[in-house]
Amino acid sequence: MATKIASGLPTVDAPRYHFDIYAIIEAPQELYFGHETQVNVNQVEMVQIPVSADEGDALDKCYISPTKRRGVERRSLIWAPVQDEGVLLGESLGCGIPHTCAQPDCPICAVYGGLVTSNTEVEVMGVKQKRTATTMLGRLVHGGGVAIQTMGPSEKQRAMHPATIHRDSKDDTPTPFRREYNQPALLYPIYNHCLSVTDIEFASVAYAFLDSLARLGAGNPKGVRLYEAELQSRQQPLLVVDRYLTPLGKRPVISPRITDVTEALTGFIDAAYHVHGDRVDKDNITRMRGEREVFQRWIGDVAMRKLQDDSLTFATTYLLG
Ligand SMILES: [Zn+2]
Repeated sequence: MATKIASGLPTVDAPRYHFDIYAIIEAPQELYFGHETQVNVNQVEMVQIPVSADEGDALDKCYISPTKRRGVERRSLIWAPVQDEGVLLGESLGCGIPHTCAQPDCPICAVYGGLVTSNTEVEVMGVKQKRTATTMLGRLVHGGGVAIQTMGPSEKQRAMHPATIHRDSKDDTPTPFRREYNQPALLYPIYNHCLSVTDIEFASVAYAFLDSLARLGAGNPKGVRLYEAELQSRQQPLLVVDRYLTPLGKRPVISPRITDVTEALTGFIDAAYHVHGDRVDKDNITRMRGEREVFQRWIGDVAMRKLQDDSLTFATTYLLG
């Protein structure tokens, strides 16, 4: 019998593409993403960047790790409000954390991946269904997150107060603890890449990317913004979206060794407008082979509009019922 070589993905009518999102985000306030806990101190995650191989010099930089960003994005899909049914998307699909459904038609698992470790029975919206052991490989990967500036974390004294508004007991003394924070105005270059997904599968990615911006961070405060700079003579978000069969664009990825903001922004913007060896002064760049599109790039406001359009497609398809 001939060996069948297949990825396991169902064949679909819609074309598949690779997609990339490149962005620079800024924390408008302190941000906490935990790394280690020492006695009563919650420390933020940092990375060490070697600056000179000979001398072993290294920089310490704040870090929003890609795996944490991925978790926040996935939850934004699981907790998306489904209209009419009074439930959240994960409940309506029977897909959560850690109990992912791993079905190729799940708008979450199709891109984020899933795992059913053994044959099991689950109840979804009051209906019992059997699930067989399944592995669904994620086709969305996250990168970047190393801050540009070298500002170290700040440490603050906080107090965990009793959960009641008022009680007459001797136990209501607040518990003090210290927490480190990533300082405000740190800039983080971030990247999402999708492998061979359809436009509707990318709609989940676009929704999760935009929706998670207000929710990045562990505990409070939370939230980041897309950093803006001058592109084509006006302030626009530093955001690039690519959809392609072949990677013709220069990738706006910033070296973690760069510590100067102007150098980092100039590098990002220069790469954004370079496609197939040409400097292109347009915010929407397309390359064709015959009648077929092989590469398309959206930059700044039009990239934002592209992600918003896709988010709207996601909401119309999965949330509006
Ligand atoms: Zn799922």
